[in-house]
Amino acid sequence: MVTLNDTGLSTLKVENVTMRFGGVTAVDDVSFTVRPGTIHALIGPNGAGKSTLFNVISGLYKATSGRVLYGSEQITGRPSHTLAGLGIGRAFQNVALSPHVTVIDNVMLGRHVLTKGGFLRAGLGERSMRREQAAHRERAVEICEFLGLADHLEQAVSDLSYGDTKRVDIARALATEPSLLMLDEPAAGMNAGETATIAQSIRDIRDALDVSILLVEHDMSLVMSIADHISVLDFGSLISDGEPDQVRLDPAVIRAYLGNEEHLTEESTEEKGSVS
Ligand code: ADP
Ligand code: MG
Repeated sequence: MVTLNDTGLSTLKVENVTMRFGGVTAVDDVSFTVRPGTIHALIGPNGAGKSTLFNVISGLYKATSGRVLYGSEQITGRPSHTLAGLGIGRAFQNVALSPHVTVIDNVMLGRHVLTKGGFLRAGLGERSMRREQAAHRERAVEICEFLGLADHLEQAVSDLSYGDTKRVDIARALATEPSLLMLDEPAAGMNAGETATIAQSIRDIRDALDVSILLVEHDMSLVMSIADHISVLDFGSLISDGEPDQVRLDPAVIRAYLGNEEHLTEESTEEKGSVS
């Protein structure tokens, strides 16, 4: 089994985070805790503030007030690119991969954050540089295989199916060896089959790799089937926070989802632990 880090996992604490855009309060005094080693989902109807909060946590937005802690480190206000160094890796909703570059090379880009100054670091002899690069490539291949991309290593990303493209994005985030993996709507735009596969991949990541997962997701059945813990936003506020069975029955959550296209369906909760 592959271990992604040997530093132990940290707790992510979101404390009283508020984010305003002009007159719009997108996130309103939200607090919750992501326990180490869990899949924690952040859900809510469209416009609830999920992406905004995700962007605050991953350093893209500076919170109007409140703070986010990862272990003992305050991460609010830190530049986004420094978070990988703390073990926080994110995959993007709008996949920002290089389309004409091969799968393996896209994933190798994730390895570069681990090599200060990239592979051309001064002072490293050519032979040891090549050895280092080979080790990184081996690890990148391992991560691709883990995500079911073994047959696509040398394919350009533009030639992949949508589901495989999303998997490359996750592989690239994993290539930074995160202890916290952040995924924004990994199942967006996927059909039922692709969603089931990505659900299994996310579970595999939690179970086989030493990592916590914070997941923003619209697809309710996916969330109910894989999350260990769910935080629900509505109009920027946290309206529910707990285990899936608890959240599913929460009247505030049912109210928030009434009139929306998403439904808290029966089968979505019965299938916990098994997607076929
Ligand atoms: P979700 O991801 O849950 O659908 P968002 O976080 O995208 O919700 O949006 C929450 C609210 O904040 C919405 O009312 C949206 O219009 C507003 N909002 C999001 N980003 C911006 C922005 N950059 N500027 C102004 N308003 C924004
Ligand atoms: Mg969003």
